[in-house]
Amino acid sequence: MSSNAPTEPLMNDGLDSEPPAKRALQYVLQKKEEGWPVAGIYCGYAPIELMQAMKIVPALLCAFSRVPIESAEEVLPANLCPLIKSSYGFIREGTCPFFSAADVVVAETTCDGKKKMFELIAELRPLHVMDLPQMPEQNEAKAVWRQMIVRLKNFLERQTGRSATEEQIEEAISWSNRKNRLARKIFEYAALCPPVISRKEIYDISFLAMPSTGFDVIPLLEEKLEKLEKRKQAGRYFGTPDAPRVLVTGCPIGGDATKIFRVIEEAGGVVVAPDSCTGTKTFNNDIAENTGDPIGALAERYLKIPCACMTPNTGRMTALSKLIETYRPDVVVDFILQACHGYNVESRRIADHVKNHHGLPFLKVETDYSDADTGQLKTRIEALFETLPKAADAN
Ligand code: SF4
Ligand code: SF4
Repeated sequence: MSSNAPTEPLMNDGLDSEPPAKRALQYVLQKKEEGWPVAGIYCGYAPIELMQAMKIVPALLCAFSRVPIESAEEVLPANLCPLIKSSYGFIREGTCPFFSAADVVVAETTCDGKKKMFELIAELRPLHVMDLPQMPEQNEAKAVWRQMIVRLKNFLERQTGRSATEEQIEEAISWSNRKNRLARKIFEYAALCPPVISRKEIYDISFLAMPSTGFDVIPLLEEKLEKLEKRKQAGRYFGTPDAPRVLVTGCPIGGDATKIFRVIEEAGGVVVAPDSCTGTKTFNNDIAENTGDPIGALAERYLKIPCACMTPNTGRMTALSKLIETYRPDVVVDFILQACHGYNVESRRIADHVKNHHGLPFLKVETDYSDADTGQLKTRIEALFETLPKAADAN
């Protein structure tokens, strides 16, 4: 690819062979046909290794399309996070194939909007809410979360008739660590200057691998890794060598919300680190193996997820610093979905951390799933890039 090549289209070397949502749905339906119960999940805190050990397939229910929002607003308030409205709208309209397949739903007490939506979903499916401790630094947090995972196991046993031994949970943990390490290696190709993997590919791989309990995802990731290495050896990359490198942190991004990525790319930037639950976040931190207490090990690892529902959420600053050191962004964009108070209020601390500890320009954007503000977003991103020294000035 020449130095002036656009960020898209992709490189036609098979890395982006199949839409991940289609593949994920095929997998869920295939497992259902094989007799596996399906558990709908909404959050990075759902312990998928437990489900895998119990031969239950997780199906991701978070939605990122503006299409069902109007229908959702007949029940939910308009000034609610679009992710919640979209997820509920699909269910209300009966158009979410993942929800149609779900026998049960697993939920967590993260943000208030989701908690209250779960009460509505409980009218439609057997639903289990895990009470997430939101002060992860307190001594008892791990024991409480461990207990919640045990209760989830009891619920799943009652509802599905499936069970799992400690050895089977241990085996699932080991598999998950392998999968997450492979995903992290793949993402590191974006740390190269210029990046060898595009953000669309990062995003697709995250979407495919995050909820996956399928053993076949490992060979798939290994194959993608080989292809990336070949790209690197061939000197192929995305964007231009002097394109502004952008780290996007904040709320989950998918579907219609990916307009933020599009705007960044159209302004000449490259997204090197999508730091959210739909990006690289869920692959961080291994789960301790062979501890003699696999459920405790799950509790410890999942509590490390730095979601803005936690207080204080110091883990997010630590994780952000690590990402900045690895991916060397020129700017950080904090992506906030409208009415997401947790990420919105936390943005002030993120701005201070990015500017004061790393000396990087920072931009907070607050948006929804509509296209109404795309022009305004473009102006703001272009203005942000204008503040960066030009490659020639920097030499
Ligand atoms: S941002 Fe928080 S609430 Fe949303 S999926 Fe991630 S961990 Fe769950
Ligand atoms: S983006 Fe914020 S408000 Fe929306 S579901 Fe996630 S945590 Fe809740």
